[in-house]
Amino acid sequence: MKRADHIQSMIQGNDETTVSNQFLKLQWKFVCDQLSAQLGADIVKSWIEPLYVSHIDNDAVVILVPTEFMKERIEGHYIVYIKTFWSTLNPQIKSIILKLGLPQGVGDTHTKEDTIDDNDDSFDTILDPKYTFHNFVVGKPNELAYTAALRVAESNQIHFNPLFLYGGVGLGKTHLMHAIAWKIRECHPQRRVVYVSSEKFMYLFIRALRHKEIMSFKEQFRTVDVLMIDDIQFIGGKDNTQEEFFHTFNALVDQNKQIIVSADKSPSNLENIEERLKSRLGWGLVTDIHPTTYELRLSILEAKADQLNIIVPKEVKEFLAIKITSNIRELEGALNRIHAHTKFVGRSMTLDSAQDLLKDLIRSHDAKSSVEDIQKKVCEFFGIKLSDMLSSKRSQNLAKPRHVAMYLCKMVTTKSLPEIGKRFSGRDHTTVLHAVRKIEAMRNEDHEFSKDIDTLLRSLR
Ligand code: ADP
Ligand code: MG
Repeated sequence: MKRADHIQSMIQGNDETTVSNQFLKLQWKFVCDQLSAQLGADIVKSWIEPLYVSHIDNDAVVILVPTEFMKERIEGHYIVYIKTFWSTLNPQIKSIILKLGLPQGVGDTHTKEDTIDDNDDSFDTILDPKYTFHNFVVGKPNELAYTAALRVAESNQIHFNPLFLYGGVGLGKTHLMHAIAWKIRECHPQRRVVYVSSEKFMYLFIRALRHKEIMSFKEQFRTVDVLMIDDIQFIGGKDNTQEEFFHTFNALVDQNKQIIVSADKSPSNLENIEERLKSRLGWGLVTDIHPTTYELRLSILEAKADQLNIIVPKEVKEFLAIKITSNIRELEGALNRIHAHTKFVGRSMTLDSAQDLLKDLIRSHDAKSSVEDIQKKVCEFFGIKLSDMLSSKRSQNLAKPRHVAMYLCKMVTTKSLPEIGKRFSGRDHTTVLHAVRKIEAMRNEDHEFSKDIDTLLRSLR
């Protein structure tokens, strides 16, 4: 038996009734790596690492969760991922069961606060070594944010305060924040940099209140040189924390200390944040990271393949760059998944295996709309005739809707580029690819146009 098959059969428990602990651990490790790629290291550290995989019960994995609070959160957010990854590795696994409890030999009752108290009460910043400027791929959608971040990190002076970075999930905000912190450590080792998520800021604040250590809390946060708060939106609705943050903010700005904040929305669009804080947050430089383009996704895949030191066939990269458009975290997750799988089964990566492996993921992005539906919708939208769209006329008022329709076909159907081309009166697949790129570029430059496309997409899905 080949080694890979052997491992596979063992981890699937084919030749054992009880799966040995070691193999469970191996599977769990695989799942955790995938989760980390998909959800980010922060989430894995806070929510996944405290879990304990107990055993496999028929087709279910039984996992122990230390607190009710965590159990709810995992059921609400992460269990689907755990299940997906586990069944990618071992198709016999059909469900994940969470049980409240701790493995034998590990203390008795624990509250969430206690768990955090044990390991998470410091201001020391743990930075991800992968999140550096060097590893950040720059493209149109993120170049302004990148430039601003680099400037703040390298400069001796304060040019804008705060630097406010915003953008959708998985587009690189945390990566850029860590990169700034790394760079400051490198260029100005004497400066004291504190990087925390707003949730951690809140946690530390509440804990300080409870333990009557509020003075030392204030002292610690108000004596830093650079304060970085990630995901500020999470203090929305938390009035006391906001108030404290507001005062910290002012104190630091008064002392001419740098503040860097990230969020999922621009300051004025933040929800449940006091007006005065929103306005302060917009005082300095506000810069956003746009959704990715095809070009950027392709460059990122190339960079990641280099980092993993693997060869990814061009058509696999193109397939991923076209299909996984939501964000960079998912893109990375998809690449990791294919890589892990091919390594596991000991074969090289092919387009077929990639398509097969990701079909669940892709299907969820795909919809039922057919090429014909899309063509009709787009014609209605632009007020042109279907026969004109399918004709060989190349006037601008026809070319644009035609490109839009091709782009949408690529986005919402499972058809390949040549298949789509064929449905547009036998056009070549390179024409379709050109259309996809063009529309992506236009979406990036023209906000109104991008909104129109989103409307069309919604109506098709
Ligand atoms: P956010 O904080 O905006 O949700 P992250 O910074 O966690 O997103 O990014 C998600 C993943 O995508 C991370 O693994 C990160 O390294 C990667 N990533 C994001 N942007 C880039 C980029 N421009 N170049 C390389 N990797 C990136
Ligand atoms: Mg983040």
